[in-house]
Amino acid sequence: MMTAKVRLAEGATKTLDAMELENLKAGLRGALLMPGDDGYDQARTVWNAMIDRHPALVVRCAGVNDIRQAVNFARTHGLLLAVKGGGHNIAGNAVCDGGMLIDLSRMRSVQIDPAQRVAHVEPGATLGDFDTEAQAFGLATPVGVNSTTGIAGLTLGGGFGWFSRKQGMTIDNLLAVDVVTADGNFVRASAKENSDLFWALRGGSGNFGIVTRFEFQLHPLGPNVLSGLVVYSQKEAASALKKYREYARQLGEETTVWTVLRKAPPLPFLPSNVHGTDIIAFALFHAGDPKAGEKAIEPVRHFGTPLGEHVGVQPYCNWQKALDPLLTPGARNYWKSHNFTDLSDGLIDVTIKYAGNVPSPHSEIFFGMIGGATMRPAPDSAAYSHRNTLFVCNVHGRWETPAEDQKGIEWARGFYRESAAYATGGVYVNFLTDDESDRIKAAYGPNYDKLTAIKRKYDPQNLFRTNQNISPA
Ligand SMILES: Cc1cc2nc3c(=O)[nH]c(=O)nc-3n(C[C@H](O)[C@H](O)[C@H](O)COP(=O)(O)OP(=O)(O)OC[C@H]3O[C@@H](n4cnc5c(N)ncnc54)[C@H](O)[C@@H]3O)c2cc1C
Repeated sequence: MMTAKVRLAEGATKTLDAMELENLKAGLRGALLMPGDDGYDQARTVWNAMIDRHPALVVRCAGVNDIRQAVNFARTHGLLLAVKGGGHNIAGNAVCDGGMLIDLSRMRSVQIDPAQRVAHVEPGATLGDFDTEAQAFGLATPVGVNSTTGIAGLTLGGGFGWFSRKQGMTIDNLLAVDVVTADGNFVRASAKENSDLFWALRGGSGNFGIVTRFEFQLHPLGPNVLSGLVVYSQKEAASALKKYREYARQLGEETTVWTVLRKAPPLPFLPSNVHGTDIIAFALFHAGDPKAGEKAIEPVRHFGTPLGEHVGVQPYCNWQKALDPLLTPGARNYWKSHNFTDLSDGLIDVTIKYAGNVPSPHSEIFFGMIGGATMRPAPDSAAYSHRNTLFVCNVHGRWETPAEDQKGIEWARGFYRESAAYATGGVYVNFLTDDESDRIKAAYGPNYDKLTAIKRKYDPQNLFRTNQNISPA
């Protein structure tokens, strides 16, 4: 093996000699990859094509031993370190330039204990892996809406999806984790063991160690659920959003309806003359009896004059993949996000203004409705604090080429600036982009100081810094 020039956490570089690299490799069950090796480019590639980083070393882990070896090596040599689960993080926090990448994406086992209704999940599993195994027993826990997202990063930031109004955030269903900490120790964290670490991991992102196994509470769901889309012209968006606002205020917890404003994709249930025009779509999901669901979602059909609808009873796993075609990896993405407790008239005006002026046919403004069970825990019950949020808004700027970057970024920033007055001031940590270090405190909210103290205890040297970082200083 050759030598490797590596970047250190504090910015300098140093050269690792062949013996040091051979020793690392010899201790692994997985692979040590360097630029040019088979699998290197795959390991360093993440969902957002705007991120193009080249680590000097990739440890492609096969198990907990590999993770510990890699953590010990990185700490001993002072390396800049990144950790990759599903690689979906918009800021590109799964990968670094010049340092070491710990790649967990091959550790994808999901084991279900149907009697206890508990899932044991490895950190490279995707939401699709998780849902498929849990649904084999008619079980689920709330996770996100795109099946290729990693369970690890999603959970560590909080996690929400269609099932959240009924069963809470993903972290509200986390029972325990196994963690490799910065000192290379392997610890279990739960409400009873290392409870400070468990508190911090539920919303504190990747700051506190590498989770090697997640243990989730599961709940009966489906396997068939009422779900689908109702689509209107954006010309009706103002009145539709006002009706939606009233509807959201009295909606039961089994139902959720999200809304998105964008150009119509070529969906087969829409007339072809609607394709490519400005629409507002309502995506609905009912977590209970489909008959009761029909009643609950009926008002959505009367927010205006529908251009088309595709609503029916379908397997939950299919609905969990319904948005995948719009969210494929490899495009350039720039996001801006706010949390809202309501949709005020001013916010509706700004939304319509920007939705009518998207920088590309793939860009969109969406409001994910949470509330319900996500609001019940106290804001200081876990690191995730945004318990007052009813709508998580995300402006998805998305396009194909670098030439479109400036226009798309300015559009997303414009919406963000003009809608800020109506927002809570908090933001979901998992929706922060690369250039938003000034919003990290807003993402951790009133829990920031406690997180700093726990960071000092578990990672005083800030080994885990390629994330929305909580400085131990
Ligand atoms: C298309 C798309 C749709 C999305 N939809 C939703 C949604 O519906 N709901 C929602 O809540 N979020 C959603 N998200 C946001 C998602 O939660 C974040 O992007 C999350 O970071 C993805 O996790 P990952 O494992 O894929 O990410 P990665 O990029 O691999 O990692 C994210 C962060 O977590 C750290 N990390 C990863 N694994 C570990 C580990 N085992 N231990 C410690 N740290 C670790 C990484 O170092 C990094 O800092 C979506 C994102 C995308 C791109």
